[in-house]
Amino acid sequence: MHEVDNLKKKIITLLDNFETSDQADLRNQVLSLIPVWAAMNKLGGALLPKDVRSAAKKRLLFYFQEYPRVVLSQHELAIVAGISEWARRIRELRVEFGWSIFSGKTILEMFEAGDLDPEQHSHMNEMKSDDYVLISVNQDRDAAYRWKVAKDIRNTKAGVKTKILEFLQENVGTPVSGEELRYIAKDKTEWARRVRELRTEDGWPIGTHWNGRPELKTGMYILEENRQGPAHDRKIPDDVRRQVLVRDKYKCADCNWTRKQWNPDDPRHLELHHKEQHADGGANDADNLLTLCNVCHDVRHRV
Ligand SMILES: [Zn+2]
Ligand SMILES: [Zn+2]
Repeated sequence: MHEVDNLKKKIITLLDNFETSDQADLRNQVLSLIPVWAAMNKLGGALLPKDVRSAAKKRLLFYFQEYPRVVLSQHELAIVAGISEWARRIRELRVEFGWSIFSGKTILEMFEAGDLDPEQHSHMNEMKSDDYVLISVNQDRDAAYRWKVAKDIRNTKAGVKTKILEFLQENVGTPVSGEELRYIAKDKTEWARRVRELRTEDGWPIGTHWNGRPELKTGMYILEENRQGPAHDRKIPDDVRRQVLVRDKYKCADCNWTRKQWNPDDPRHLELHHKEQHADGGANDADNLLTLCNVCHDVRHRV
């Protein structure tokens, strides 16, 4: 702690000498704060273990790993990083190294689209757009490759929804993050709503932790299969979908299949089926809906 003590004394001395009289020259005041600022940055670094101090990226990663799933403010991250360009380092940690660091912007847009459980994630509900949170302590080593694919799609001329669908189709069966989808949308706020439309209106089997796939990590989306659901089973509101899945215990009503039985040779997923078809006046409510695996669902529609 020798180093920390020395820096603390240095800052106190600098502040003691800081000119505060009414006659003080503004420019001189500002200039005399520069060494204070520099010493503060050093002090922030001195609190961290020696082996991570050398680079802002290492400092930030260490701090995120010390406090996973805790909302961290831009101010504390600036202190830890010790440089003003720290936000770019966070992007690198995410894009090049696959750490699931989410910004407040993305989290809030997911809340608005109904893709996060407001109760379970209430601590994130108050996130400011410049706050950050590390969702998982595990590094996703395939993320760097996915970001390259995302970049190519991002630069095409298509609309946001088309681009998001294309990226999901490139990654069928693999979870992708909300940060990736937001990036593809060129940071347009509408990305989360477009994902919801793809799921509820267009019938693409896109699951999240809160919408159909409770074992998925927060912030991740998965396209289960590259196939739209039958037209008559679309437009089911997310809250009704959740209600039915929970009621049916995430189990196929015909064959009892659950996610636990998933294997790559038989990659099933769960869908909702209208007992009385929507087109024939069947309601979009829980009583008229049934959880089926996609195989049994196909059978029902064939007979
Ligand atoms: Zn089944
Ligand atoms: Zn059906």
